[in-house]
Amino acid sequence: MITVMTEIQQINKKNLSIEIDGQSITLPAYVERAASTYYYDPTAQTLKKRCHICKQHYDVEHYLEGKWDDIHDEEKYRKTKSGYNSYCEQCIDKKKARQVQKSEIMKLTVYLEQEIVRFIKIKATLEGISNSEYISRLVKADKNITDLVKLL
Ligand SMILES: [Zn+2]
Repeated sequence: MITVMTEIQQINKKNLSIEIDGQSITLPAYVERAASTYYYDPTAQTLKKRCHICKQHYDVEHYLEGKWDDIHDEEKYRKTKSGYNSYCEQCIDKKKARQVQKSEIMKLTVYLEQEIVRFIKIKATLEGISNSEYISRLVKADKNITDLVKLL
């Protein structure tokens, strides 16, 4: 009985070779470092790397006529000295963007009259923004017309 494997196979650390046309083919050496994050697509004869965050698969190598060809797209998935990154470029960008946002926002506790707090809440609700956004908008407007250099 002939079994045709057409489904994408997850690479196992215990078996760092795959079968192509009945022949055992050794995978690129870097696969060993993170074997389970690599997949092999028998239909396309392509080795894929899975991003740890979005779980998407990215083509990295293509097997043709006895050798592996590097087909990875550096803009989508970064190659390193020891193989490939754990995350795709898109997820790295998202991570960086979140870090920047976090570092740019500061918490400030202020004491305001009840009337003012009520006004801020009503205005923010009417404009569909958060209290912080509303206050930021007021301060930015004041900042635009204030020449700090002259005041300091
Ligand atoms: Zn990703």
